[in-house]
Amino acid sequence: MFEALKERFESVFSSMKGKGRLTADDVNAALREVRRALLEADVSYKVVKNLVDAIKVRATGADVLNSITPAQQVATIVYEELIRIMGKEPAPITISPKPPTVFMMVGLQGSGKTTTAVKLAKRMSRSHKPLVVACDLRRPAAVDQLRTLAEKAGVAFFGPEPGETDPVAVARKSVAYAENHLCSLILLDTAGRLQLDDDLMTELETMKRDVPPFEVLLVVDSMTGQEAVEVSSVFNERLGLTGVILTKMDGDARGGPALAIKATTGVPVKLAGMGERVEDLESFDSKRMASRIMGMGDMMGLMEKLERSTTDVDAARIAESLKKSRFTMDDMLMHLQQIKKLGPLDKVLEMLPIPGGAKALKGADLDASRLKYSEAIILSMTKKERRSPDIIKGSRRRRIAEGSGTSVQMVNQLLAQYDQMKTMMKSLGKMNPKSFKVAGALKNLFR
Ligand code: GDP
Ligand code: MG
Repeated sequence: MFEALKERFESVFSSMKGKGRLTADDVNAALREVRRALLEADVSYKVVKNLVDAIKVRATGADVLNSITPAQQVATIVYEELIRIMGKEPAPITISPKPPTVFMMVGLQGSGKTTTAVKLAKRMSRSHKPLVVACDLRRPAAVDQLRTLAEKAGVAFFGPEPGETDPVAVARKSVAYAENHLCSLILLDTAGRLQLDDDLMTELETMKRDVPPFEVLLVVDSMTGQEAVEVSSVFNERLGLTGVILTKMDGDARGGPALAIKATTGVPVKLAGMGERVEDLESFDSKRMASRIMGMGDMMGLMEKLERSTTDVDAARIAESLKKSRFTMDDMLMHLQQIKKLGPLDKVLEMLPIPGGAKALKGADLDASRLKYSEAIILSMTKKERRSPDIIKGSRRRRIAEGSGTSVQMVNQLLAQYDQMKTMMKSLGKMNPKSFKVAGALKNLFR
């Protein structure tokens, strides 16, 4: 996903970082590259202009240029502005307080409506009883496709009687059917056309009037570039969309729709289709998208930091610790000392492409002054305690607190932090170097 865009960004930011000090001209030159990369990713001219202007205002200020790490600051600003145009807050799917909730899935033919209707039904079936309804009567195969997918996923299905030709009537009948079968959520899978089509819009408007949906979700193929944005605008004008679902994000989508739909139409992207299987549906997360686009650049920064702060002796010790299946307090002490050299841990974690990695350690609060206490606490443990922290119970905790000049509460916190780090180290050890190219490089560094 977004490979080309990612590569372009990577080259812009790595050449900028190579410079050390930056002038306003340097930043402007880099932003021209950013602009070109976005246009090539098929983001519309207007959206690119808005984005680049916003970045420029923030990135050419004296506070940024005179800072010790101007290139990193510019990268951070770009990252934040990418999030801003995609929508900072996540936009969840909503449920009507008065069941059954109706969702209407609309979109062009082939965009992924039928597949996504079943994916979404499956996803919602954790807390609801969904019913998928075949309202695409134009192609006989469409009804069968939905029925087959629903059966496979274990989702209830409702379709037309033989010979039935009115999709609005099917939608109406499905409400009574849902009530009789205690289904709390109805997903209407509607017909699409290859192009925007007035007759279809009229049909959908009638359906919307007769069976008022709580969500009108436009399913858009993310591979279609700017066309996706135009389609979203027209559907939104006619039907009043509540959300967009971008499909085929697992392919080589260039990024245009993901970046521009919210900015152009005001309609939030709520979900992302990541594959053909029923479970391949994710919440659309602008932060994760921005990290994916910026990912390499960020990792470059982290690599640089690591290279600067890690001596060969450190690297060898860390390598030992990651290779072992056990993570002890001694390892933790070493990692804490390493982290101290890198800077604020949450910033470091943000740079790592570990899903949930930053969240996993959130609240761990590993700032410099805390690290001093953590070190003191670990140093007050006996050898045996450091090797098997599980044995550190009540009286040992009191002794360690006294010995380190801290409190039992702080010892408890450190032990909790140890557990979190242990989990984190495991996931770092398990990381697939292919999907996380640079993280793989990071592991090599530790090897
Ligand atoms: P509809 O005409 O809008 O109902 O589209 P379909 O649901 O029939 O999907 C068209 C094709 O796109 C099918 O072959 C799906 O398997 C495929 N498809 C849908 N969503 C995704 C996705 O997120 N990733 C991939 N790779 N394929 C998808
Ligand atoms: Mg279909």
